[in-house]
Amino acid sequence: MSDKKSKMKAIRDELFEFSESPLYEERIKNKAFPVIGEGSHDARVIFIGEAPGKNEAKTGKPFCGASGKILDQLLEHIKLNREDVYITNVVKDRPTNNRDPKPEEIELYAPFLDKQIGIIQPKIIATLGRFSMEYIIKKFGLEEKLEPISKIHGKKIKIPNTDMTIIPLYHPAVAVYNRNMLDDLKKDFEILK
Ligand code: URA
Repeated sequence: MSDKKSKMKAIRDELFEFSESPLYEERIKNKAFPVIGEGSHDARVIFIGEAPGKNEAKTGKPFCGASGKILDQLLEHIKLNREDVYITNVVKDRPTNNRDPKPEEIELYAPFLDKQIGIIQPKIIATLGRFSMEYIIKKFGLEEKLEPISKIHGKKIKIPNTDMTIIPLYHPAVAVYNRNMLDDLKKDFEILK
C-alpha cells in the first residue's frame, strides 16, 4: 500500500472508532457511517464542505445528495473529474437533523482534516460554505483576510510561504433552489480552471 494510502486508512480507522465525539452514538444508533473523504490522494484541488447530510451518512460518501448534484454540475462546468480532486468536510459525522456544526465539533474533527491536507498537499484549498472558510483561513493565521463569504467568495487568498491558495466558495446547497446562485457559483468555479 502506498504511504499516502496507508496514512489515509489510519485516519479512516480512527474515525470509525471516534467514540469521543458527541456525534458518535447517534451514528451507531442510525447504522450510519463517518464520511472520511473521496478522490485522488494526489489532487491539486481539495474541496472542503461543512458536514455530512443524511445521504452522506447513509453511504459514507461526501456530497452525494442534493448539494452533491450541484457540485457535480459545477465540476462538469469546468471539466474537472470527481476522481481527480479530493472532496471532504470539516466535520466527519452528521450533526443531528443537519443542524450547523458547533464550534466544539469543528475543533474536535479538525485535526483529521489537517492530516488530510498534509497528506494530499493540494495547491488549491477550495472551501465550500462559511464554516470551512473560517476554519481554513484561521488555521493558516490569515484572520485579517476574514470577511463575510458574500464579499470574499471566488477571491484567491495566497498562503504566505507555501504554494497553496485558498479559494472561498459558496456552499453548493445555496443553489439547490436558486438559479442565480448557481450562476454565481459557476463563475467562481471558473477560477479553479
Ligand atoms: N453538505 C456538506 O457540507 N457536505 C456534504 O458532504 C454534503 C452536504
